[in-house]
Amino acid sequence: MVAGSPPVGRDELLAVLDEVMDPEVPVLSIRELGIVRDVDVDAAGAVTVTVTPTYSGCPAIQVIEEDIRAALAAAGHTDVRIRTVYAPAWTSDWISPAARMKLKAYGIAPPARAEHGALVQLMRRRLAPACPYCESRDTEVRSEFGSTACKAVCWCRGCRQPFEEFKSI
Ligand SMILES: [Zn+2]
Repeated sequence: MVAGSPPVGRDELLAVLDEVMDPEVPVLSIRELGIVRDVDVDAAGAVTVTVTPTYSGCPAIQVIEEDIRAALAAAGHTDVRIRTVYAPAWTSDWISPAARMKLKAYGIAPPARAEHGALVQLMRRRLAPACPYCESRDTEVRSEFGSTACKAVCWCRGCRQPFEEFKSI
């Protein structure tokens, strides 16, 4: 058992990936966003990272892959394979409660829960997001596309400030 143990543990690799921030939401790591699905290391030290992009066709996935490789290389892992899986599809429900708090503190309204399926989600899209600054629901979506495709631009009538919402999918 000892002879066959991998030279590094999964926990060590996960700790490295904890430091890789999402390029579009720099306050959250790719693990907190649920992009990293799994990490594996074989007896020879080859690392396989399984990722699921947040939005299909999200241009950030290229950057994320490069960031993963750079972070692992800095930790001494150069034999890295990145496996992209699209099923099950990423959902904003994978963002942890702690990560939602960080989003809000950063000034981005966290996504609404989407666990009841596409129809409810569709209806929920018409609900105004709560303002991350003053909690007011007296807000409006001004544009479905903000600084990145995964965020909407909103306006709060309560505190008269614009903010972004991480869209629910
Ligand atoms: Zn407000």
